[in-house]
Amino acid sequence: MKKHSKEYLANLTPSKCYELLVEGNKRFVENLSTNHDHLEMVNETREGQYPFAVILSCMDSRTSVELIFDQGLGDLFSIRIAGNIVNNDILASLEYAVKYVGSKLLVVLGHTECGAINGAKKGVKDGHLSELLNKIKPAITKAMLEKEDARLFSDTVAYTNVENSLEEIISGSDIIIDLFSKGEIGVVGAVYNVSNGKVDFFKNLTPKIK
Ligand SMILES: [Zn+2]
Repeated sequence: MKKHSKEYLANLTPSKCYELLVEGNKRFVENLSTNHDHLEMVNETREGQYPFAVILSCMDSRTSVELIFDQGLGDLFSIRIAGNIVNNDILASLEYAVKYVGSKLLVVLGHTECGAINGAKKGVKDGHLSELLNKIKPAITKAMLEKEDARLFSDTVAYTNVENSLEEIISGSDIIIDLFSKGEIGVVGAVYNVSNGKVDFFKNLTPKIK
């Protein structure tokens, strides 16, 4: 079956999509990434797109999802914004991916050493940044309750910030909660480590259907 086709996507399960990301990150970390032929990928996807996952991640230049999950053109919807925060336009983009295109897995991906999180911790107030950084503050409060060690605290915010975004998505979108409760999509929270290239898939709400 052609990889980039409606049939291929329809036959994938949420748990299989999860495995594709886990295996892709393993190849990336081991420096065994697939040799992507860019021109071939353009030809393969010229008639349409059937990405198996939609990933909300940070704009950080070190966290490009196609690279860290060893995927090619047409494989992933990538929504990127500083601090992987959620707003209504992002919810709409997620809803489009899972309902209208049929992506089977929704991932919120944070990362260590996040500049947006550091800015929020410092209480930066400047232009439009103030409003965005405010959205990260609940994650800082939550992390403060869990960790006292400053170093651990820094990474903990990356995790609590992903948890908060997941909660906002689940509580903010009837379309997503409907597909999720029917087992049609999986939902995953993960944090990318900029020091070693590994993704920690710490929260997996994907239904166990093979
Ligand atoms: Zn970041």
